[in-house]
Amino acid sequence: MLLKISDRLSLVISETGFTYCNCLFIDDDIRTIIDTGANRNSLEEIKPDSTDLVLYTHHHIDHVRGNTYFPQAQKYIHELDYPALENLEAIIHYNCVDRWTDLMPGYDFAESGAILGMGEEQYKGLEKVEHTFGDQHIFDLGHTRVQALHTPGHSPGHCVFWFPEEELVFSGDICLTKAGPWYGEVFANPGDMLSSIERVMELKPKKIVSCHTNRVYDDAIPRLTEFKNRIYKRDERIYKYLISRAASLDEIADQNLIYLQHPTPFVLFWEKLMVLKHLDRLIEQGRVEEVEPGLYQAR
Ligand SMILES: [Zn+2]
Ligand SMILES: [Zn+2]
Repeated sequence: MLLKISDRLSLVISETGFTYCNCLFIDDDIRTIIDTGANRNSLEEIKPDSTDLVLYTHHHIDHVRGNTYFPQAQKYIHELDYPALENLEAIIHYNCVDRWTDLMPGYDFAESGAILGMGEEQYKGLEKVEHTFGDQHIFDLGHTRVQALHTPGHSPGHCVFWFPEEELVFSGDICLTKAGPWYGEVFANPGDMLSSIERVMELKPKKIVSCHTNRVYDDAIPRLTEFKNRIYKRDERIYKYLISRAASLDEIADQNLIYLQHPTPFVLFWEKLMVLKHLDRLIEQGRVEEVEPGLYQAR
C-alpha cells in the first residue's frame, strides 16, 4: 500500500509484521527507494524492475529483504554497515546471533528464528549491495535532493535521510514505535542512540516518518524528545532495581525493565542484550559495579 506524502514522495507501507519495514519511494528522474523491506505486493506498486537507485538506512534483515526484487538498481549503504552484509558469518556476528547459546541456554535458535520468519534463506542475495556512502552524502535525484546523515546507535552505519526542501526526515529505525529504541546488536549502544536522536532534532524537521510507523508525524520534536527520554528511563529502572540487591543478568532480564512482555524468546534475548548495554553504561558512569563476575549492584 502506498501513502502519498508529497508530489514525489510516497511511503510504501508494509502489510506484514515487524520483520518487514516501510520504505520511502521517490518518484523522480532517478526512481529511488529507501529500504526494500516491505512485503512483495506493496513493493510491486512502485515497479521494482524500473527502479534506478536503492538506498539503505541500515543492514537489518527487515530493511534489506526484498533487495533482489530490484535487479536494475544501483544499491548503496553506509560504509560502516556494508561489512555486515558481506557473508553469513558477518550477519551472524553483527546481529549477536553468536551470543545466543551463551545468553539463551535451552532455547533453540532455529526454532525461535522461524517464529519470526528469519531463516537463512532470507539472507540470500544480500551481498549484492555494492556501493557505500559516507556521512552527509547528497543524492541528487533530478528535482529532489536527499542527504544521508549518519546516526549510529541502532547499527554502526544507521542513517536517516533528510529532504531539506520538504523539511522531512525519514528516520529509519529511530522508529518512534512504542517498543523502541532498540540497540541490541553488537555495534549498537544507547549512548550513540542518544546523540543520533539529538542530531535528528537539530534538523528541526517539520515532518518525520519512520520505517515502522504508518503515518507522517508533524510533531517531530516532542516525539523525538519522548523517544530519547525512554533511554534514560531504562537506565533508571535498572539502577533502581540494583540498589537493594546484587543481581545476575538473567535476574535483571526477568524484571521486564526494557520490554513489558517477552512474547517470544527473541524478545527475552533482546532484553538481555540491551540490559547488558545499559549495565556497561551505568558501570562507565560509576553508578553500578560488577561485584563478582556476572553479578551487578548499584554503588
Ligand atoms: Zn533495524
Ligand atoms: Zn527495522
